[in-house]
Amino acid sequence: MMSNTKPILPPAMLGILGGGQLGRMFAAAAKNMGYGVTVLDPDNHAPAADFADVHLCKSFTDPAALQYMAEHCAAITTEFENVNADSMRWLAAQGIPVSPSGDCVAIAQDRIAEKTFIRDAGLDVAPFLAVKNAASLEGDLSAYLPGILKTARLGYDGKGQVRVKTAEEARFAHAEMKHQPCVLEKMMPLAAEVSVIVTRTRAGEVASFPVAENEHVNGILDVSIVPARVDNAVAERARAMAMQLAEKLDYIGVMAVEFFVLDGGELVINEMAPRPHNSGHYTLDATLTSQFEQQVRAMCGLYPGKPDLLKPTVMVNLLGDVWGEDGSEPRWEVLMTAPNTKLHLYGKKQARPGRKMGHYNVLAETAQDALEQANAIK
Ligand code: ADP
Ligand code: MG
Repeated sequence: MMSNTKPILPPAMLGILGGGQLGRMFAAAAKNMGYGVTVLDPDNHAPAADFADVHLCKSFTDPAALQYMAEHCAAITTEFENVNADSMRWLAAQGIPVSPSGDCVAIAQDRIAEKTFIRDAGLDVAPFLAVKNAASLEGDLSAYLPGILKTARLGYDGKGQVRVKTAEEARFAHAEMKHQPCVLEKMMPLAAEVSVIVTRTRAGEVASFPVAENEHVNGILDVSIVPARVDNAVAERARAMAMQLAEKLDYIGVMAVEFFVLDGGELVINEMAPRPHNSGHYTLDATLTSQFEQQVRAMCGLYPGKPDLLKPTVMVNLLGDVWGEDGSEPRWEVLMTAPNTKLHLYGKKQARPGRKMGHYNVLAETAQDALEQANAIK
């Protein structure tokens, strides 16, 4: 299908709400393609500012900053899922193409809305109970136990989650969370976790990247292995489900879908992110088009680029933990000199435990080879 609106071409100014590492890599991609970039982020040291023509150092709801973006940007996107959805809606109401829509972002921001939408779309999720208040936990909870109580909003990297075995524990944990809206989700037996990143344009063109297999440590992504070590049929089903969800949402832009793979190869959708995703950083070096270039292409009404994998790749996150109090640092020499390893740093001045500082991609002939080489330089 051809797009009926004219594509937005360089040197147009593109706007992004959020200036973290995802915004930085978006800005780098946009600048490489010849676009201008305006970043809105309240942090003085926003990593994306290094690559931006304009950094509006204001909150995501600042009227003057939003007005500036409305006047100067040809299209607007976000890299931050907790951006104010009404700011996105306001910008769209000014007649600017905004992708993803504020409505899609609002769904992804709230686990109750998100899991309900996915289930209503006919896709599998883990059994969950919408916990709107204390009364929600009064009935029989056995269908959700043992389970995980997750805050509906603002959880990330495993934060805002408590594992509970009994109804009593669930009620206690909910009280500890000050009875805020949550989901109580059944603990699933995981054979693996995988994710798919989808690009969808305004004209409905869809492309999905190869499936990544994700390993977490302390709730934070540690490594992504591509291609995922699952049956081809499972991988193809994951891609189909992710594209189906994008279509049901009428999603425009880049979206990540996280899955649980169960023992029999069944797939359950865990969550979605309305933006590029850490598990898609392998695309910076291992596919013709990166997830950040796809974000540019989708917001500008261009065709999605080719997402095919050029070489098996393992992505390893560099967390602030590697910078020790004793002054220890990552093994720069090894990371910078390994010929098949690509290091990406986000320019963050301060390392803190759990803070994402950078990542590196190791490309090899097989995923197993890449994994062994990645482990050797860890
Ligand atoms: P976050 O927004 O912090 O990424 P997730 O809901 O993705 O939150 O949970 C983080 C991790 O916790 C998952 O990647 C998975 O390893 C584990 N987890 C979450 N929910 C379940 C579940 N229902 N069953 C088993 N493991 C889970
Ligand atoms: Mg997650």
